[in-house]
Amino acid sequence: MSDRAAPLAAALAALVVAGCGAQAAAPTGLSVTASIFPLAEFARRVGGERVNVKTLIPPRSKAHDFQPSPRDLADLARARLFIYNGAGFEPWAARVIPQLPAGAVTVNATQGLALANGRAADPHVWLDPLLALEQVAAVGRGLIRADPEGRAVYEANVASLAGELRALHEVFAAALATCRRREFITAHAAFGYLARRYGLGMTAIQGPSAEAEPSPGRLAAVVRLARQHGIRVVYTDPLEPSRAAEAVAREAGATLGVLHTLEGLTAEEARRGETYFTVMHENLRQLVQGLECR
Ligand SMILES: [Zn+2]
Repeated sequence: MSDRAAPLAAALAALVVAGCGAQAAAPTGLSVTASIFPLAEFARRVGGERVNVKTLIPPRSKAHDFQPSPRDLADLARARLFIYNGAGFEPWAARVIPQLPAGAVTVNATQGLALANGRAADPHVWLDPLLALEQVAAVGRGLIRADPEGRAVYEANVASLAGELRALHEVFAAALATCRRREFITAHAAFGYLARRYGLGMTAIQGPSAEAEPSPGRLAAVVRLARQHGIRVVYTDPLEPSRAAEAVAREAGATLGVLHTLEGLTAEEARRGETYFTVMHENLRQLVQGLECR
């Protein structure tokens, strides 16, 4: 008995030592939950190996209509950091925040930003690279509050990601500087901040949040605008095909293009390795084509 117990005890001791060693070298990760894909990507990029990030809102659900399931709530009850976009994008956030564990940190990633207001605040700030940069800074501050020991890592990663976002902004500004048209039409009103940043005009067939189909009067007005500006492309979101956009394109003699709202990545897009940056470059390519920029 003792012959066999001794090696077992030694093996267990070795395991414990290896476990502690492994943990010190690569922490299992701060548990972070982000509501939408761009914020989850920013948290992964800033947090690196120190974090373990979950995205709450799955792709293909109408992101604005999402409601957390009991399973989501159970996951949230273990989160050490909860990042949400704010500006009305997650009306359920106020309900789940009190259920986070004691000491958990919450980041409202639009707090302090100058939000565009129509009938309601426009939440789609991440589609403007320079506002996305502000969100990255907010994510970094949240990570530092939740895990102060990682401060140096988080600050370095925020700086590097901010540099990439500034570079993306420069590419957008240069590519959209000289275009035949400056007006574009989208199904979902997600590109207002992007349009404002680059001096473009967005007309949306639907509103800034999930809404009923537009009225025939609204469709007719958008078709008139398309004709008036010689618009050749009407944009839809790949996550949300829009029959209204198809109708407008048909009536105005335009084709359908794709502008990705980044409210979620499909499994297929994730498999292809798409990121915030690859999707934004594709959005730019689509705009350059539709607006005939040189
Ligand atoms: Zn939206």
